[in-house]
Amino acid sequence: MRQTALIIFWVLQLVLATAQGFPRIGVHEGFTRFVFDLPMGTPYRVDPSETGVIVRFGPLEAPARSETLDDPAVQAYRVEHYNDATVAVIELRPGVEYKRFVLPNEDGSFRLVLDFFHPAPAANAPPPKPNPPKLVVVLDPGHGGPDPGATGFVVEKEVALDVARRVQRLLEAQGIEVILTRAEDTDLAPPDVQNLRERKLIDLGKRAGMADLTKTLFISIHINSAERPAQGIEVYYFGATQDPRLLAKAVQENGGGELGERLTQQAQRRAEQILADLVAKANQDFSRRLAEMVLEGMLEHTQAQNRGVHSAPFYVIRNAQIPAILVELGFTNHPTEGHRLAQPDYRARLAEGIATGVLRFLANGAYASRLDPEKPLP
Ligand SMILES: [Zn+2]
Repeated sequence: MRQTALIIFWVLQLVLATAQGFPRIGVHEGFTRFVFDLPMGTPYRVDPSETGVIVRFGPLEAPARSETLDDPAVQAYRVEHYNDATVAVIELRPGVEYKRFVLPNEDGSFRLVLDFFHPAPAANAPPPKPNPPKLVVVLDPGHGGPDPGATGFVVEKEVALDVARRVQRLLEAQGIEVILTRAEDTDLAPPDVQNLRERKLIDLGKRAGMADLTKTLFISIHINSAERPAQGIEVYYFGATQDPRLLAKAVQENGGGELGERLTQQAQRRAEQILADLVAKANQDFSRRLAEMVLEGMLEHTQAQNRGVHSAPFYVIRNAQIPAILVELGFTNHPTEGHRLAQPDYRARLAEGIATGVLRFLANGAYASRLDPEKPLP
């Protein structure tokens, strides 16, 4: 009878231990405490291991478990069962010391307690320096594949890609990672999409999607054309406009025709909301500054005509989460500028101008610490 009572009592203890956790873990000021609740007479033994401590018990009903901890002293622990033993394996962080003691309960059960002391931070060690995130510039040569863009003395898609590649080389030489939205004469729609308007919509969507927070800047590169003779460089950031010439420009770059009209209206609505969106507004201000610096860089390198910085509802930069601009390098159909755009030397100077503007922008703001200090700015 007495023995039955003892067994019931023992089972109760186990149920209790299981309910409370085996071990119970408490994190305190300066140490982490492991408490093993044990029935009366449970044999145990504590041994150091290569990575921490091993505690061996006689057979127990505690559930097997394995946990990784976010704790200053204990990395992980596990409880395992063998034929005639229960084992707790405790993995400690480097340099952690511990002490153990036993607290008896009135009923004969007891608690095995292990205290693991949190290592003191090294007194003079400098705080670990996080690696600054890399600068990543997305260059987006407009059009490509079935869409040539503007034509004249040169073809827009060809000049845009060539200049983008040149900018890529210049920025990479400064330790900046460059991603081209396209590196060949192709658009970004899957090959099985036949409808050109559908292709354009997919294409613009994919390009736009690359202006996310994992990148630093987004620059879409285009060449202008005009019905009346015009020349010069203009740079855009995203925003609303009431200027019919700029709206027509946006329609043309947003796919032209009916699609271009529709996407321009969508983008214009988005642009009108920006004033109410503090984050988008701040990004718009950064984009305008980037536009000004890139235009200035290009004018310095080319002595081309200055057509200014403007905002317009370009679909490809409508949702950019990073500073984003669209540059128009010149006019394909201007008798002088069109021929100039065909010359490798002139394209090289345009690229140097864009790279100069980008580097000046990056050197002036929160990005400066990520530029390679060994590389002097152009
Ligand atoms: Zn274009």
